[in-house]
Amino acid sequence: MELKTSYASDNYPIIVKHHAINSLERYIKNEEQRFFIIDKQVYNLFVDKLEALAQKFDAKCIVIPSGETSKSFEHYHRTIEYLLSHQLTRQTCIVAIGGGATGDFAGFIAATLLRGVSFVQVPTTILAHDSSVGGKVGINSEHGKNLIGAFYRPKAVIYDLGFLETLPYSEILSGYAEVYKHALLNGEKSTKNIESNFTSNKVLQALKNLDYYLFEGIKTKLNIVVEDEKEKGKRKFLNLGHTFGHAIEYEHKIPHGHAVMIGILYQFIVANHLFETNYNIQHYINYMKKLKYPLSIIKQLHFEDTYHFMLLDKKNDYNGIQMVLLKNLGKPVVTHVDKDTLLSAFEELQSYFK
Ligand code: NAD
Ligand code: ZN
Repeated sequence: MELKTSYASDNYPIIVKHHAINSLERYIKNEEQRFFIIDKQVYNLFVDKLEALAQKFDAKCIVIPSGETSKSFEHYHRTIEYLLSHQLTRQTCIVAIGGGATGDFAGFIAATLLRGVSFVQVPTTILAHDSSVGGKVGINSEHGKNLIGAFYRPKAVIYDLGFLETLPYSEILSGYAEVYKHALLNGEKSTKNIESNFTSNKVLQALKNLDYYLFEGIKTKLNIVVEDEKEKGKRKFLNLGHTFGHAIEYEHKIPHGHAVMIGILYQFIVANHLFETNYNIQHYINYMKKLKYPLSIIKQLHFEDTYHFMLLDKKNDYNGIQMVLLKNLGKPVVTHVDKDTLLSAFEELQSYFK
C-alpha cells in the first residue's frame, strides 16, 4: 500500500508493506553521502540485513542507544559533530531506522545539519506509524519531552512490516493505542471495525490484518496534519488521550501507549460528565482487559499528583486545562475542563478498579 501526502509542495510517499525497504534506493541514490542512524536493538536484531543494505548503498551505520535515551542534547551534539567530521555537502542523506525515538532524533539531526539535508524514515515499531508521519522531529530537554525540535518533512516514509515481527508484546500494546486512537477519531464505523478485528491479546500478538489498520491510521493522521501542519487548530485532536496519558507516563514511567490508552478511557468518563454523551465505560475497560493492557496502575494514582502533571500540558492556556474530548466517536473537540470535573471523573475511573 502506498500513498502520497497532499501538501501544496514538498510531498512525500508513504509505503507500507513487507519488503518496502527495497524502495529505499530510489530516495537515496542521488546523494553523495549516506548515513543510516539505527536504534541499537533494531541493529542487533537485523544486523545482517542492515549491514548488507549499508554496503549496497555505501552508507555508514551510526548505531544509537535504544529508545528514548537517544533523544538527548548530549547525544545530538556528539552525533552531529561526528557527521560534520565527514566534510559533508548538502547532498547528504540521513536514514532513520528504528522506532519513534530514532525517527525524532535522526529527523532533528537532518533538519539542522547544514540547515537541512535529505531525510528518510524507516519506522520499525507500530507506534512509529504515527510518529514518522507529519514531520515533527525533536529531542528532549531537561524541562520536558520534545521541547527542542522542528517541523521537517521526510523525503519518504518506508514502512517495511517485516521489522514489526520482533516487537515484544508490550511495544505492540504501546503502538496499538495510537492505531486505536486514530480509529476513534475516524468514527463509529472504524471503531467497531478495529474492535472486531483485534478481539484478544492473541490476535493482536499475531498482528492480524495490521497493515490495513496501520494504513487507515496513517490516512487519518495525514488528513489532519496536511490541513494543520503547525498545530494551530485541528492537529490538536491527535492529542486524544494524551493530557491524562502524558501525566501518568511522566509520573510513573510507563510506555507511552499504555498511558494513552488509560488517557482515552479517562477522556470518555470526562465526556460523560461534561456532555450529553453516554459512553459505556465498562465496554472500553473490558476491551482493554481483553487485549491485556496493564491497568492496575490506575489504583495507585493520586489525583493531586496527576493533576499537577496535567497542568504542564502544552495545550493548556491561562484559563486552565484543555483536553481533547469525543462529543461522539469521530467528533473530537478541544475544551477547557475545570478541576472539579477532572476530580469527579478521576474518582469514577478509580471506582472501576476497586
Ligand atoms: P522507541 O523508538 O523508543 O522504541 C520502543 C522500543 O522498541 C525501543 O526499546 C526500541 O529499541 C525497540 N524496538 C524498535 N523497533 C523494534 C523492533 N522492530 N523489534 C524489537 N524492538 C524494537 O519508541 P516508539 O514507541 O516507537 O516511539 C515513541 C517515541 O516517538 C517517543 O519518543 C515519542 O515522543 C515519539 N513520538 C513522536 C511523534 C511525532 O509526531 N514526531 C508522535 C508520537 C510519538
Ligand atoms: Zn502519542
